[in-house]
Amino acid sequence: MKILSERGFDKMLSIENEKRIEEWIEAHKEEFIADLSKIIAVPSVATPGVAEGEYPFGIESANVLAAAKELVESYGFPVKNLDNYCLVANIGEGEEKIGIMGHLDVVPCGNDWNYPPYQLTVDGDLLIGRGILDDKGPLWASIFAVRCLRDLDLLPKREIEIFMGGQEECGMNDIIHYKEVSEKLPDASFTPDGNYPLCHGEKGGLRFYLAIPCNDEKIVDFTGGTVKNVVADKAVATLKGVCAKCLKEKLADNERIAVDEEGDLVKVTATGASVHASIPENGVNAIGVLANALLDAEIFEGEAKDAMKFLSLVNSDYNGAALGVPVEDEPSGKLTHVGGVIGMDRGVLDLSIDIRYPVTEDGDRLLEKIIETVEPYNVTVHNVADTKPAYSPADSELVRTCMRVIKSVFGRDHWKPYTMGGGTYAKHMPNACALGPEDPDYESPFGLFRGSIHQSDESTPAKLLYDTMKVYAKLLVELDDIDVTK
Ligand SMILES: [Zn+2]
Repeated sequence: MKILSERGFDKMLSIENEKRIEEWIEAHKEEFIADLSKIIAVPSVATPGVAEGEYPFGIESANVLAAAKELVESYGFPVKNLDNYCLVANIGEGEEKIGIMGHLDVVPCGNDWNYPPYQLTVDGDLLIGRGILDDKGPLWASIFAVRCLRDLDLLPKREIEIFMGGQEECGMNDIIHYKEVSEKLPDASFTPDGNYPLCHGEKGGLRFYLAIPCNDEKIVDFTGGTVKNVVADKAVATLKGVCAKCLKEKLADNERIAVDEEGDLVKVTATGASVHASIPENGVNAIGVLANALLDAEIFEGEAKDAMKFLSLVNSDYNGAALGVPVEDEPSGKLTHVGGVIGMDRGVLDLSIDIRYPVTEDGDRLLEKIIETVEPYNVTVHNVADTKPAYSPADSELVRTCMRVIKSVFGRDHWKPYTMGGGTYAKHMPNACALGPEDPDYESPFGLFRGSIHQSDESTPAKLLYDTMKVYAKLLVELDDIDVTK
């Protein structure tokens, strides 16, 4: 591919133009917050799978696409709604195309927020609201970056395509549909949906269910978790024919367990700490906590006891040991696994497993090992989905240019490109990487399990979003003179 510049070095971003970008951002901060709050206000939790009819991911996903379309069109950019799967805005012209891939759906809120989740709260320099970091805030920052370039007559000589997805968090059928109906995909893409500085490799994703036999008249129901790619923060066992008082006494010392009587039923509730499945070591899985408590209380025998032992085992480590696949590699580190959601039907527990495997591993090989490992427990694997890993070398021109721009804005010389377990849109696109927005050096004022992506009180300093705006504006200009496919 030829991308030799007709513009030459002197047309790269000059100090003067950099200053103009900074002034533009400064002058548009209020408008940015006002527009972003309209997007945050939509409780856009998408439905998994693809529903028949007009709203493939539910009405709220469609609502957020409609709200975003109206705003982006008001900026003077033409926007297409692709069947309520996603929006696509095209800006500028050129033979080649650069993609910016972000999403407008969010993960559910849980019930532990101190701030209103679907309202953008500005508290000093802090912005709080579901999606402020993942991914509404950074996506909107990158849209403003493109506006800034257009207003300042600095648009690159490539076309810019902004993709706004409606189902990133629970299936990514949005980007699959976009790829099916697009005539031409971007030559290179960025997704503002990871950590700074830049993710140049994403682990493979292996998702499936484990069916665990658990027939016992004492156990009426067993549920836990809300989303498959998040460590379960709550799990509840509903029991009958057991003594609530005895259970309370036996489990009195367990701070994560509550025992309640409801008529002739006894509910045992475990509380964990939810984190994203790509960093499970930072969380506490409520399903494992509950299984261990029920084992401690010694109320089951036979199949139910075996089932609790198995649940305890699966949740006793996060790196595949319990499933027979404790693998790791140099560029991307250890495999991770998480039991996210559990339910019970006709005496069988069904536990979802989310695995992120190293970039050099093979999903089929791992699956074989897992089936072999769980078989002796009478546990079966079903509904398997495997997303292959993506990897682009740290010394490619694209990655090196991105790193240079990011460092020029943030000044963090210790930042290095990394690989990760969280699967972003980048895995679905050629020459793509996740760029920003989370600052790995930043500590949330709300503590370890609160304030970050997928957590309660999701928040970010406003400055991070303005810096992200600047990174994207600078990068789009700086990329003009390099071959983005190398
Ligand atoms: Zn995201």
